[in-house]
Amino acid sequence: MAANTEAGVPLCDLQVQYRELQSELEAAVLRVLASGQVILGPEVTALEAEIAAYCGVAYGVGCGSGTDALSLALHALEIGRGDEVILPAFTFFATAGSVCRTGARPVFCDIDPITYNMDPLQVENKITPRTRAILVVHLFGQCADMEPLWIIAERHDLVLIEDAAQALGAEYQGKRAGSLGSLGCLSFYPTKNLGAYGDAGMVVTNDPEWAHRMKCLRVHGMEPRYHHKHLGWNARLDALHAAMLRVKLPHLERWISNRQAIAARYDALIEEHHLSHFLERPIRRPNRRHTFNQYVVRVANGQRDALVRHLKAEQIGCEIYYPLALHQQECLRYLGYGTGDFPASEKAAGQVLALPIYPELTAEQQRRVIQSCAAFLRQQVRRAA
Ligand SMILES: *Cc1c(COP(=O)(O)O)cnc(C)c1O
Repeated sequence: MAANTEAGVPLCDLQVQYRELQSELEAAVLRVLASGQVILGPEVTALEAEIAAYCGVAYGVGCGSGTDALSLALHALEIGRGDEVILPAFTFFATAGSVCRTGARPVFCDIDPITYNMDPLQVENKITPRTRAILVVHLFGQCADMEPLWIIAERHDLVLIEDAAQALGAEYQGKRAGSLGSLGCLSFYPTKNLGAYGDAGMVVTNDPEWAHRMKCLRVHGMEPRYHHKHLGWNARLDALHAAMLRVKLPHLERWISNRQAIAARYDALIEEHHLSHFLERPIRRPNRRHTFNQYVVRVANGQRDALVRHLKAEQIGCEIYYPLALHQQECLRYLGYGTGDFPASEKAAGQVLALPIYPELTAEQQRRVIQSCAAFLRQQVRRAA
């Protein structure tokens, strides 16, 4: 996350937003310091109301991270040993890790190779009498195909939980991520659409009882004080993060528009440099608002890792989200899955590449990224000749 250099392009640059909002952010920090209320309290309560309203739901429960949000949601549903939760095999580890930590078993489902999101057609045959919930992920900032999941969840009496960590502000049929299931889990990790200056997260829901239970769980399950009703833990949100997130939230819509414009520009640059067969561009599904938390291309011809080396050498930021599908992770081997079980997820893990994206990325920087990709491809063609 270094500042821009002459030739290099960072994957992400958090300093630009800080400089833009510096005086307001610092005023918010000082307000919290002077208040003496540094954990939970009025800043957190205000942020909870603002985020819930933004997502179009009734309640928000602030917590320590997106991972805490997932854990709170699962524990609020009393999911644990003996239960199963269906989730995609291609997502960030926390989606599965939080399920395992409850004692429940994650049951993986393959992805739609076009959107990298859970393929609803593969969900129903994973349902058993032990299935309690479907944990859907809106990967890279675009909502999964929800309508079939709504039908499946209703038919089998399952709770639909959204991992919307990468998709705050994304929409499906005009409804915001976080309002598309029964519980929506958000992350304010610094590189997400709305980033804190440290770890922070939230669960959003329309259910008052679940909201109440999660507020209890995040403070060791206490109710009343020092009487522990549920087996909770410390999942609290700091007031400093809440205060700074409240400064940033009014800018979120503009930042999302910038991300969309940047994505459109990448699309055009890839076309312009005749790279579209080499770098498969992200697909936007109809009736959805893609927030482009990441701009992820699929690199053809088994050249992904060589392209990564080339870009790194030219100081162009890039990252592989994610190099392994979840069933290929060492700590999840006990689940008994094998190579070939989720072919679309495994294939994606071998081909995807995220290019630099953040709301302030300039057209000139994007041109450098794509020119560098084009130079790599020319080298390959020359070598092959
Ligand atoms: C970032 C992320 C999380 C976890 O959020 P943290 O705030 O880092 O704990 C969970 N799921 C997905 C899909 C994420 O991208």
